Amino acid sequence: MTSPADTPEEPRRQFASDNWSGICPEALEALIAANRGHVPAYGDDDYTRQACDLIRDFFETRCEVFFTFNGTAANSLVLASLCQSYHSILCHQLAHIETDECGAPEFFSNGTKVLLVPGDDGKIDLKSVEHAITRRSDIHYPKPKVLSITQATEVGTVYTVDELKAAWSVARRYDLRIHMDGARFANALAALGATPREITWEAGVDVLCLGGTKNGLPVGDAVVFFNKELAREFDYRCKQAGQLASKMRFLTAPWAGILKDGAFLRHAKNANARAAQLESELRGTPGIAIKYPRQANSVFLEVPPSLIAGLRRKGWSFYQFIGDGGVRLMCSWDTTEEDVRRIVDDIRTLLARSCER
Ligand SMILES: *Cc1c(COP(=O)(O)O)cnc(C)c1O
Repeated sequence: MTSPADTPEEPRRQFASDNWSGICPEALEALIAANRGHVPAYGDDDYTRQACDLIRDFFETRCEVFFTFNGTAANSLVLASLCQSYHSILCHQLAHIETDECGAPEFFSNGTKVLLVPGDDGKIDLKSVEHAITRRSDIHYPKPKVLSITQATEVGTVYTVDELKAAWSVARRYDLRIHMDGARFANALAALGATPREITWEAGVDVLCLGGTKNGLPVGDAVVFFNKELAREFDYRCKQAGQLASKMRFLTAPWAGILKDGAFLRHAKNANARAAQLESELRGTPGIAIKYPRQANSVFLEVPPSLIAGLRRKGWSFYQFIGDGGVRLMCSWDTTEEDVRRIVDDIRTLLARSCER
């Protein structure tokens, strides 16, 4: 028997990461609805077929779709399938595949080298990309094969359609494939107000790793091959890497749940709007500098160490190791206006107190 006293209090919503959030109602309902009777395992079921079809409808094209347990696996397995071990992958120096995947892209590709490119606001500078491709053409240099773009970027900025097309023209000139790390693709989409097709296959993206976990799913990111040639035998790669879910319906039914009535975009819009609220509340506050243009669902701040300590004492969690430092406040699908007001009030109180001293 559990008494009310044994029931832990509901933890507050934080600004640490969008994957600290729970499951959105649309995904949870679909998950529960999928828990009926027996259906075929390993993805040969109607829930999975429906999820794949909804993803094809979303992108308005006949793409090939796969599901992995997380984004690291999606990125790494895609990159491994686009490259031979003597190739190289070009990405921004802050890219998740470089800084946050524990070497998985290199591991799964048997040593394909990741080459880093600089660029302002978390976006690759195309002159530097071109330099990295053309500086050597001899046999001693790992042959550039993939340009990897993160949308939205690690620092919460978003590539415009024109920027994506400019990257495509460089990739095309040198016969590079384009991989898009879309862990926060929905947030980028909501920020741009574009259509999904405009910022993917119509801008030259060969493969997209489509994030769901940070936008209300329990688990499971999708891999979307617009260039279907490249999807050959990807199912074997997933299986070998331990990424073929046996009870696949529980990964895919929630995808159908968030896609069929537009919740996927709606939740991303909320997260972006809450970040916009946070930014407008904090902009101009003495002692606080906003680090990057706020375009998606995060706000990066440069603040005094005493404020960081004070916020932590008040029970707030946030990351300080993403991008090139500072405090990252990340909004989620379920962040409310009230949540934003609470942290802003705490920030104001702490700053006022430190001025009094
Ligand atoms: C969260 C994230 C991923 C995926 O991370 P997992 O923890 O492996 O799901 C990939 N790319 C970016 C940019 C991310 O923010």
